[in-house]
Amino acid sequence: MIIITRPDISDDELDHIRERVESAGLHTHLSRGEHRTIIGCIGDESRLQELPLRTLPGVESVVPVLKPYKRASREFSVDRTVVQIGAGATIGGKSIAMIAGPCSVENREMLHETAVAVRDAGATVLRGGAFKPRSSPYSFQGLGREALRLLVEVRAATGLPVVTEVLDTRDVDLVAEHADMLQVGARNMQNFALLAELGRAKRPILLKRGMSATITELLMAAEYIMANGNDAIVLCERGIRTFERATRNTLDVSAIPVLKRETHLPVIVDPSHAGGDASLVGPLSFAGIAAGADGLIVEVHPDPESALSDGDQSLAPSAFAALMDRLSAFAVAAGRTVAVPAGAPA
Ligand code: PEP
Ligand code: MN
Repeated sequence: MIIITRPDISDDELDHIRERVESAGLHTHLSRGEHRTIIGCIGDESRLQELPLRTLPGVESVVPVLKPYKRASREFSVDRTVVQIGAGATIGGKSIAMIAGPCSVENREMLHETAVAVRDAGATVLRGGAFKPRSSPYSFQGLGREALRLLVEVRAATGLPVVTEVLDTRDVDLVAEHADMLQVGARNMQNFALLAELGRAKRPILLKRGMSATITELLMAAEYIMANGNDAIVLCERGIRTFERATRNTLDVSAIPVLKRETHLPVIVDPSHAGGDASLVGPLSFAGIAAGADGLIVEVHPDPESALSDGDQSLAPSAFAALMDRLSAFAVAAGRTVAVPAGAPA
C-alpha cells in the first residue's frame, strides 16, 4: 500500500508515520516530489490493519497497491524515473535516448569507428557485447575481458558512456568496474541470482524482456533488482516469441504503453533484435517512439556483412545516420525531442 501525505507535512510527522509502519514489521520506501511525498509500504499488509494510519498527522490518503510489483509500480513514485548513465547521458524525460553500437566488440578499430560514427549521428550511449549469450557453444562468444578494456578505451576517446551485458554473477564486479551500465539479456531476465547481485551493484541496469516473458514477469524481474537496493533500471522491449516466423521475434508494441501505465521506470525498444533484419529497424524504431518509448538501442557495425554476430540486423553507420535524421520528426510528433548530433547545425 502507499500512504500519500499532505503537501505541508513536517519531517517529524513523516518520520513518525514511517516508524509506525516499520514497527509493524514492514519496509518503507520514500518518494519525494515537489508538492507531495509518497510512502510506499512493503511487507505483510495485514499487520497494518490495527494501525490508525488515516488519522496520523500529515496523512492525506492510504491506497492499496494490488499488483505483485510494488517498488516498480507507477503508484510508488511521485515522478517518472530518469536514469543517469555515466556523467552526461540520461534515459527518461523528454529527450529520446539513443544507444547504439555493435552487437559484439570485435576489435579496437571497429569499436572506435562505430563509436565515432554513432556519436556524430546523435547517439549518447555506446553498446558493445563483451560476454555474448549465443545459442550455439560453437559461435563467437565475445572477447570477454579484452572487450571490457576496449570499451573503456573507446569511452575515453569518444566521451560516450558504455553499456555491456553481464552473463554471470561471478562477473558482476568486473563488468561494473568497466561499464557505465550493465545489461541483463533476454535469456537471463529470470536469473534471480543475477538480478539479486545486480541489486547490490552501483551501476544502472538495462533489463531486457525475456523472449517468452509476460509484462508482469518483466516487472517482477525489475522488482528483484530494486528489492536488493538498486532503483536505476531501464526496461527494454526487444521482441517476443510468437508463431510468426517472418521476423526473428515479434515487437510487442502494446507492451510500451502498458509498461508506461504500470511503472515509473523508463522503457526503451530494441528494434534490431525484435525484427532481426536491418530493413525493419527503421519502421520498428518509429513504431516504438510513436508508442511512447523513452529511447532505442540499435545495433550498428562498420561492415555488417562481416560481423561476427547479428550482421543481418546491424545497420551500417550511414544507415544509422539516415535513421537518426528521420527519427526526429517522429519524436516531435510524439511530443519528444532527440539529442542534436555533435557538430550539427542547431
Ligand atoms: C544483445 O543485445 O546483443 C542481445 C543478445 O540481446 P537479447 O538479450 O535481447 O537477445
Ligand atoms: Mn545482438
